[in-house]
Amino acid sequence: MATLTYITKDVDIKNKAVLHFGELFVLVAPFLKKPVSAEFISQRIKVKPSRVRAVLNKLYNHNLIDYKRSFDDDTGKYTYIWTLNHEKLKAFLKNYEFDVSSEKSAAEEECDAPFRCRGCSEAYSFDSATDAAFKCVRCGSTIDSAE
Ligand SMILES: [Zn+2]
Repeated sequence: MATLTYITKDVDIKNKAVLHFGELFVLVAPFLKKPVSAEFISQRIKVKPSRVRAVLNKLYNHNLIDYKRSFDDDTGKYTYIWTLNHEKLKAFLKNYEFDVSSEKSAAEEECDAPFRCRGCSEAYSFDSATDAAFKCVRCGSTIDSAE
């Protein structure tokens, strides 16, 4: 399996990546060389889509990945195609310094809700937002990034 060499060849950088994006990142990363869906990665590495999405969500929280939503006629559902920004990830991993405050903020990100309804401000985790197809279950408005 092809790997992203700038991550795997440097143990220090690999450790930073794992600390920030989780153990699964090392398995997910090779698939991020080109735009890909969480479901595709999930099937290939035999891990639940929600766990793959958790990794993608962490990358998204750091503004290192983007997604495009497209309607899949076969499944009748929206598919999310993720595109990793390799330059940003590289810079992020090289510039990141370990310290107590950034480790704390990484832990806090685990449990917050990065998405919010534009209409009623209901908070959503990434999974609940995708499950709702980015449409608020309370008021029907668009769910957006909370920033
Ligand atoms: Zn709402």
